[in-house]
Amino acid sequence: MGAVTDFPPYLSGLRLAGRRVVVVGAGQVAQRRVPQLIAVGADVHVVAPEATPAIEGLVGSGEVTWHQRPFADDDLDGAWYALALTADGAVNARVIALAEERRIFCVRSDDATRGTAWTPATGRYDDLTVAILGNRDPRRSAAVRDEVVDALREGRIEAPHGRGGAETRLGSVVLVGGGPGEPDLITVAGRKALMGADVVVADRLAPRELLGDLPADVELVDVAKLPRGRSAQQEEINRVIVERALAGKRVARFKGGDNFVFGRGYEEIIACREAGVPVTVIPGLTSPVSVPAIAGIPVTHRGVTHEFSVVSGHLPPGHPESLVDYAGLARMQGTVVLMMAVRNAPAIAAALVEGGRPADTPVAVVCDGTMPTERTVLATLGTLAERLHAESVKPPAIIVIGEVVRIAHPEAFGG
Ligand code: SAH
Repeated sequence: MGAVTDFPPYLSGLRLAGRRVVVVGAGQVAQRRVPQLIAVGADVHVVAPEATPAIEGLVGSGEVTWHQRPFADDDLDGAWYALALTADGAVNARVIALAEERRIFCVRSDDATRGTAWTPATGRYDDLTVAILGNRDPRRSAAVRDEVVDALREGRIEAPHGRGGAETRLGSVVLVGGGPGEPDLITVAGRKALMGADVVVADRLAPRELLGDLPADVELVDVAKLPRGRSAQQEEINRVIVERALAGKRVARFKGGDNFVFGRGYEEIIACREAGVPVTVIPGLTSPVSVPAIAGIPVTHRGVTHEFSVVSGHLPPGHPESLVDYAGLARMQGTVVLMMAVRNAPAIAAALVEGGRPADTPVAVVCDGTMPTERTVLATLGTLAERLHAESVKPPAIIVIGEVVRIAHPEAFGG
């Protein structure tokens, strides 16, 4: 028989919920392991004289028990599993030796070969857990894990559904915020949810390029092609997402920016809940913050503004259905970001000046943010109407009003 290390490890899934797990050390390595142990329900005991702020936070919220002192021989009593994660090899060696005596499997961070257990890189997809042990090369195992999980999500590896098959599978809806338009500006979670969906219900402003990457068998419902009229269209969207989910499909409701920022996302949440369909949310980079940012305009700046207001300008000031207090907005000092406001911008600028904002307040209109056609039109509150007309500005555009525009464009406004 060869040395112990000549043999590959035997991979096993430990059911640790409610079971005592002892973590010796509370530094960077422990900080990565402890949340994983909490996630599987383990009764985590950390033994260490000092802890990182992140671990202290888990102690504060009651998720782990911290024994704030050096390791003692009887710390492993009653444990099912142990991890020796200190920076001190002698302490780790002592933990390993005591664990061995007690027949407790134990991970050792400074010299994995001397541990009796190794931590795999793990990932989850549906009800599957994927674990990769990369022969003590953590980067390699993490990379393989990512590949496998992505392939499962994107349907490149078939994962027939467990527990009764697709017919009885409960469908779901996920609201995915796509960001301002550039396909790289969706979140990692958003992209994964999109690629793993059976049905994608996409808006006009959702980043279209991403749809080209969808697997061929995904059903794409283009909202722009549904019957016109705002409320009829929304009712039809609610109906489609609920109906597909009840048929067992994973539905991604895909919008530009963030679904909860003038995106009617919560109406879809309510519709799903009423139908008993599980629904989750993946936030997106919202355009009133990200479009100015991409154009080089900060919505706040130290010493310049302590607030920014995001306003839908789809109704003009004084409209009976408007919910915006333009006089109040004019009295505030901070940045105002207008959305859906190209048509009403002249009336809004006039209302802000009338309410007390200086007519020379800098304004930037960012059109088609993050798209190849992106451009910025500069103006002041006093000249905005004329500039929009002269430049033939069309939606979508974000209008930023306030001194932050001067910070970004001192050449145009004087610094
Ligand atoms: N839910 C979206 C906003 C939907 S309302 C979000 O969180 O961003 C639609 C308005 O958003 C447009 O009228 C425009 O004002 C703004 N908008 C969205 N994407 C934009 C972009 N790429 N460039 C400029 N404005 C954009």
